[in-house]
Amino acid sequence: MTVKVRFAPSPTGPLHIGGARSALFNYLFAEGKGGTFILRIEDTDLERSSRESEEGIIDALHWLGINWNEGIEVGGENGPYRQTERLATYQEYTSKLLQEGHAYLCYCSEEELEQERQELIARGETPRYLGKCRSLTEGQRQAFETEGRKPVVRFKVPEGQQIVINDLVRGKVMFESDDIGDYIIVKSDGIPTYNYAVVIDDALMKITQVIRGEEHLSNTPRQILIYEALGMKVPDFAHISLILNTEGRK
Ligand code: GLU
Repeated sequence: MTVKVRFAPSPTGPLHIGGARSALFNYLFAEGKGGTFILRIEDTDLERSSRESEEGIIDALHWLGINWNEGIEVGGENGPYRQTERLATYQEYTSKLLQEGHAYLCYCSEEELEQERQELIARGETPRYLGKCRSLTEGQRQAFETEGRKPVVRFKVPEGQQIVINDLVRGKVMFESDDIGDYIIVKSDGIPTYNYAVVIDDALMKITQVIRGEEHLSNTPRQILIYEALGMKVPDFAHISLILNTEGRK
């Protein structure tokens, strides 16, 4: 299979050293294998993202001599390559997930979620969403709508499943689905979360290896569950170590 990898920065600041390293690894891997290297911009954090940061990152990559064959600036058959321009595509898959019962609308307020969190912490349990809105009746849903509540979309995490990642760097890493609460895939303003948009994009862009920083390892089981729910092929993952300073911070 032809190698297809990507660097997918969030334009929330300048290119940092860890990002430059991820970009370099992806670039070299694609070059070495005669594959394709994509640059995709993950700008779904509307408050923190800016075009200035995006331009800064692109300039920094050019300065480093890292070139891409598909994506921002150069185009390609899987565009657009900026996530805020792909909202209609995410919506299509959200409808599918809702229809097939893999996702549901949740109307819980911040206060209700905080209360649940505090209760779990008090009991010594991992704070997570316990699925209060999993099986709302149409009447309850209507009542929330009438109250003016705006729902988020949550992914329905299957119970009792072991999620195994054969990471190309770290080897076999296992997670239990029961430790993961039903997570938000679309916010109340209709904008997808990172864990959701990244899956749709990596799948549609036919990414073969996801090479990224280790800080994303704990996101990977959440992403795998979405690939499986949509019947999409799960790529290989390679989580590379972080670059830390002498205090052990990023
Ligand atoms: N936008 C994410 C970041 O900048 C990319 C993570 C990924 O490569 O999946 O951390």
